[in-house]
Amino acid sequence: MCSSAKLHKTRVETFSFARPAKTGRAASLGRLQLDGMKICSTNSEVRAASDDARAQGKRLGLVPTMGALHEGHLSLVRAAREQCDVVTVSIFVNPTQFGPTEDLSKYPRQFERDRQLLEKEGVEVLFAPSVEEIYPAGGATTWVVVEGLSERLDGRSRPGHFRGVTTIVAKLFHIVEPEAAFFGQKDAAQLAVIRRMVLDLNFRVRIVACPIVREPDGLAMSSRNAYLNPEERGRALVLQGSLQRAQQRFRAGERIAARLISSGQEVFAGEPLVGLDYFEIVDPDTLESVERISERALIAVAAYVGSTRLIDNLVLEVGTE
Ligand code: AMP
Repeated sequence: MCSSAKLHKTRVETFSFARPAKTGRAASLGRLQLDGMKICSTNSEVRAASDDARAQGKRLGLVPTMGALHEGHLSLVRAAREQCDVVTVSIFVNPTQFGPTEDLSKYPRQFERDRQLLEKEGVEVLFAPSVEEIYPAGGATTWVVVEGLSERLDGRSRPGHFRGVTTIVAKLFHIVEPEAAFFGQKDAAQLAVIRRMVLDLNFRVRIVACPIVREPDGLAMSSRNAYLNPEERGRALVLQGSLQRAQQRFRAGERIAARLISSGQEVFAGEPLVGLDYFEIVDPDTLESVERISERALIAVAAYVGSTRLIDNLVLEVGTE
């Protein structure tokens, strides 16, 4: 857990992003090579790091995560490295986005492993606050809620989930003040909700979406894949299989969403031990159902493999498929 005593004793005294670049890729990119990654556990520490970066005219990128990092997370870090001069990664298992019966207590926490991975990626700042640091009043009383979108897809199945997501992401934007923030297309509904929050609240941050990173057999990478036993791991491929079946029919010319949905649902019928939560075709920005695909549409699926809830999606585009 990121609130380990050791971590929270870590202090960031004064440091500067102005140290001269040394050798290697970072130097060739004109990036700043630091003597190791700064670990911040308080808002004031990470604010000082952000202020320092901005004072030197550096573009600051933020990658929010809940830790238990995998290649999907690291792809966001690499995108941030490409587009920004200083990369801050946050690791915070946000309690307010978990429902009362969800997996908050068993969510994988591997701080030391995560720290090493991020250090290898050349991340400048790791922000790993405690729950008390982020929710100093003991919980949230002020919430950021994107109405409408927050009740669609995962928001319908997980009431209150997106309210927790937008509240923590808004807090991180306030605390870190990044120029750009990087999110995975894997959580397509989350991305739409965050984009709308940024638009509605006039946040001065650029939202960058990064493609889904998959295992070699096609399963979308997720920290929750660690919950799957070997048999469940095999069954989990039904999510990707159902999306591909619908995509094949789309490529064959089908544009009626209900028919594409049926073809995806049929794939689940062949895997009765996996419980389908939803298989929907929606507008990628509003998350509202579409009847006929005329331009772009998001096919999104969520299912329970054993007790593990997994999600996946793909975007269909008329003219490019
Ligand atoms: P999480 O730690 O699950 O909250 O995810 C942190 C960020 O990583 C979110 O923006 C996710 O969308 C993104 N992410 C998670 N899994 C993947 C993946 N397989 N490919 C790309 N991005 C991902």
